[in-house]
Amino acid sequence: MISHREVPADATIKEVVVKQEPTGEWFAVLGIETENGAPPKPENPEKCVGIDVGILKYAHDSDGTAVEGPDLTDERERLERAQRDLSRKDHGSANYEKQQRVVARRHADLKRKRRDFLHKLSNYYAREYDLVAVEDLDAKGLMELPSNSRNRAGAAWGTFLRMLEYKCDREGTHFVAVNPRGTTKECSKCGVETEKPLWVREHSCPSCGFEADRDLNAAYNILSRGFDQVGVVHPDSMPAETALPPGTVAVPAERVLETGSPVLSEAVRPSRAG
Ligand SMILES: [Zn+2]
Repeated sequence: MISHREVPADATIKEVVVKQEPTGEWFAVLGIETENGAPPKPENPEKCVGIDVGILKYAHDSDGTAVEGPDLTDERERLERAQRDLSRKDHGSANYEKQQRVVARRHADLKRKRRDFLHKLSNYYAREYDLVAVEDLDAKGLMELPSNSRNRAGAAWGTFLRMLEYKCDREGTHFVAVNPRGTTKECSKCGVETEKPLWVREHSCPSCGFEADRDLNAAYNILSRGFDQVGVVHPDSMPAETALPPGTVAVPAERVLETGSPVLSEAVRPSRAG
């Protein structure tokens, strides 16, 4: 048996739900209650994650995991073919109506696959972590997109956040939606802001020299705002192990911070001493 998390000492177990996932795995979910009703404060920083729901990649988290969206090429092609067939039928004919239903089914296939992916992704984060920090849904990231993809990306983002919040609630995981202002521009080590157009994929701080993938830097900022919001003391360094949800692609951060690295000592130690 794998225990995904410790039951905190001050918690009362209220219910136990045993369930089987479509994958065949069994889970026992303990419903717990603490004194103030909120989930217990996360104590292990390694069980806390910040997620940057990105634009070029689907999501990039503070553990260095980059998750790509599902490959919908086949579903899209099938939908387009069905739509082309529809355009060749006589409007209003029996064949036309029949083909309309085919188009509707292809739309549904596409939607199902996308939702299935979002379900798996949100399950993964809600189960593996005690605290999940994301950016509050706003227009920031969406404004960087060409207008024709804006609505679709916005809808998927909203769906993902709703699923994640619901699942975190169910699993007793803190869900924190943080202020998204400047998470990409801000250096996660020293806080200095630099302008960064979308095509600049690397964060390279002119002030402290910290370098990281653009989205990883943003994920660090999101996590650190999450810590602030819940009132958790920031750990000495941000989590840096790579954790892999099944069926996702990991792109390890090119430069992952380790405790005691020159960059970290420069950036963190003076402020601690002072
Ligand atoms: Zn910096």
